Amino acid sequence: MIIWNQIVDFWREVHEKYNYKEIKTPIILNEDLWHQSGHWDNYKENMYFTNVDEITYAIKPMNCPGGCLVYKNNQHSYREFPLRVAELGLVHRYEASGVMHGLFRVRQFTQDDAHIFCTPDQIENEILGVIDLTFEIYRAFGFEDFHIELSTKPQKHIGEDEIWDISTNALRNALARKKIDYQVNEGDGAFYGPKIDFHINDCLKRSWQLGTIQLDFSMPQRFGLVYTDKDNTEKTPVMIHRAVLGSFERFIGILIEHYAAEFPLWLAPEQARILTISEKTNDYAEGVYKRLKNEGLRITLDVSDEKLNAKIAKAHAQKIPYMLVVGPKEAQSNTVNVRIRKTNITKSASLEEFIEITKRIIADKNIELDF
Ligand code: ZN
Repeated sequence: MIIWNQIVDFWREVHEKYNYKEIKTPIILNEDLWHQSGHWDNYKENMYFTNVDEITYAIKPMNCPGGCLVYKNNQHSYREFPLRVAELGLVHRYEASGVMHGLFRVRQFTQDDAHIFCTPDQIENEILGVIDLTFEIYRAFGFEDFHIELSTKPQKHIGEDEIWDISTNALRNALARKKIDYQVNEGDGAFYGPKIDFHINDCLKRSWQLGTIQLDFSMPQRFGLVYTDKDNTEKTPVMIHRAVLGSFERFIGILIEHYAAEFPLWLAPEQARILTISEKTNDYAEGVYKRLKNEGLRITLDVSDEKLNAKIAKAHAQKIPYMLVVGPKEAQSNTVNVRIRKTNITKSASLEEFIEITKRIIADKNIELDF
């Protein structure tokens, strides 16, 4: 949960910066809605249902229909566009028990979803914005190795050729303007629009598909979404679905693999552990613990009777980034002996120094764990 919450905080901070509004839609929604969205016809086998007062409800497998209802709650004008609406949406999808796999494939997960409503001539700029936001988030986790795929109009599709051309060109232009190389999967787009997928390579060069940007010409029509344009007529907005991390659960699974469970300081569930040499310095160690905890660091204190070497070995095995050894010398000089797990280097530092350095590493989301 600590890792989860850190990612959520960061995700919110970045989305705030890119002018998204956050919403939360219900998990259980009337079955009729899923007929309207097309999920009933195309996705029923993956959905769960429940009955309340003799009415059938579906547990949402996707957040889009809920997002459409929120859009419809108000009247909209071109002046508000682009309208960027994000949701950390909890979805449930049936998966056969044989294919479920750790955090990678689960029946319940949280998607970092967003829907952008805009006019056709705003598509390109919106795609640019989503690409920037996506890379900003990936880089914060140390992913620098990307691979992008563009999927174009399939044989079976809805929507006019003109809008397909405008949107596919908008995706191409955005990638060209960012000087991003990409692979084209001809005819591999969704029936409702073209898409871009983001793949990252982890430290072992394994490829993971994470983010996606999908244009949708179907759902706004199905839900009768409209906006008032400059000429005072009602038009159907373009809807862009996009996810950056995909599923939080799966993304945390990927991070565990990528870091080999050695998390950068800003994500580490336990950032430092204080290790005492003998009980004579327990009071001092308590004081250090309180001080660091007050500074917002995730800290623990090991005052057990075990030998120092055993305490170090334990903290090392638990991948705690910093071990702070305190003995009589440290108590006297108001310092800690910092042992850096990654390098095994030890350094003496005043409490102030330790606080200042670690806070800077956390604020910078530095993944190096130096000291
Ligand atoms: Zn969607």
